[in-house]
Amino acid sequence: MGIASAKIEGRMKRPEYVAAATAACRQSLDNGAVSPELYGNLEAVFSRSGFTQGYYEGKTGLSMFGIRSKENVQSADSKIFAAIHELYKKERQHIPVDFALSVDEQESSLRVADSDGNSCAALGAVPEKALKVALDRERAEKSIGKTGGTPFFMRNFDCYIKEGLTLPASALNSMRSQCLEGLSEVRKTLRPVPFKSVQRHETDTRMNKKPTNYRVRFADYDISDSYLDSELIYVTCAFGDDKLEELLDRGFAVAVEIPRAMFGIENKIYEHLRRVQKLGINEVLANNVGAVEMAQSLGMDIHGGFGLNLTNTEALHWAEKQGIMDAEVSFELTLEQISRLGGIIPIGIISMGRLPLMLTRNCPIQNDGKGCKYCTYAHTIRDRKGIDFPVTCNHDVGTEILNSVPVILADRKHEVKGIDFEVIRYSIEDSREKAVLLEHFRNGTVPKEKYTRGLYYRGVE
Ligand SMILES: [Zn+2]
Repeated sequence: MGIASAKIEGRMKRPEYVAAATAACRQSLDNGAVSPELYGNLEAVFSRSGFTQGYYEGKTGLSMFGIRSKENVQSADSKIFAAIHELYKKERQHIPVDFALSVDEQESSLRVADSDGNSCAALGAVPEKALKVALDRERAEKSIGKTGGTPFFMRNFDCYIKEGLTLPASALNSMRSQCLEGLSEVRKTLRPVPFKSVQRHETDTRMNKKPTNYRVRFADYDISDSYLDSELIYVTCAFGDDKLEELLDRGFAVAVEIPRAMFGIENKIYEHLRRVQKLGINEVLANNVGAVEMAQSLGMDIHGGFGLNLTNTEALHWAEKQGIMDAEVSFELTLEQISRLGGIIPIGIISMGRLPLMLTRNCPIQNDGKGCKYCTYAHTIRDRKGIDFPVTCNHDVGTEILNSVPVILADRKHEVKGIDFEVIRYSIEDSREKAVLLEHFRNGTVPKEKYTRGLYYRGVE
């Protein structure tokens, strides 16, 4: 298949699953197959009802969803767990450490350090005068180097041993285990990685900047003249030539949104953009690097969408290098983080509208068994708390699951800093809902109905 590496998804999985999955991959690579016993254990520890082939066989549908019942999760018994534990009984020693031993008449001490700047030290027994054989470097190194059962191995051994002294092996062993246990503890604390390349002078100019204009994204033809004061509107590729011409005639500045996902319609979209250019529209909204490239090849002006996941200054520098004129930054950033972004291209945020939560090729609605033919454009799925999430199904561009309520920052405009424009993103709203959102946007108010602040205050844990 030309695959160079495979990823084992271990998030939220128990250690036994990770061990069994890793062992299965190893076996499969080495022997071309997984033994029935290991396969059975893997099923037992994760899913009694078996596994899904994902997208690999080109079949989407109900069978793609791995479904786990409560019995599934509880079915693995202690015997299977014990069998799996055997797989990782022997800890792989993969972390190099440097030891430094010091022995003189007053005391003995050992220090261990890893490559990440973590270290730990232990004091040992008071050395005694050697009656027969004194402690030497060779014997000390041999004792300290016994790191079996830990993830560490000895890389360097420094020592100072005053002549004529000795220490029992038990004293050396005890210092080693104290050091390595201590080091393991220290290594559990994650140290923050400094946020690189925030250039103050850039940031300062952004800091107090207030959004001066707004843009609107439309997914249907219901576009009133109330938006004529926006600097730009984004419309989907579903808008035909006549609709686009009409919008231009009415005085809108129009950019075409390249779909976030394209399943076999890349050429169609490419041709659509060429026609659009002939109408006099030369701007696109690009939500992934493929779309950026497509627009570049057509010489179109590119606005970056939230799908580019621009979350830091480095990413904004990248966008600038690609010739992206301006961009919506990720809505997973907080307002505070957004205000500290550097870079020089203008940036914006989605401040109104339903945020997309998921984009999937496998439509969850069709799984009632009838297929997508019966999916209406806007549908809902209900989560375990009884909340309904709108789903828009369109096979060529994927199925989008939207948040149950819109994000609204209209009353928080004073807290939105460092950006150049706001975006109202419409997806399934009807005329009335659009009018209500616009009114709140203009008046700086919020509705009585439920709405959300998204992650703009909470951030991502
Ligand atoms: Zn569908």
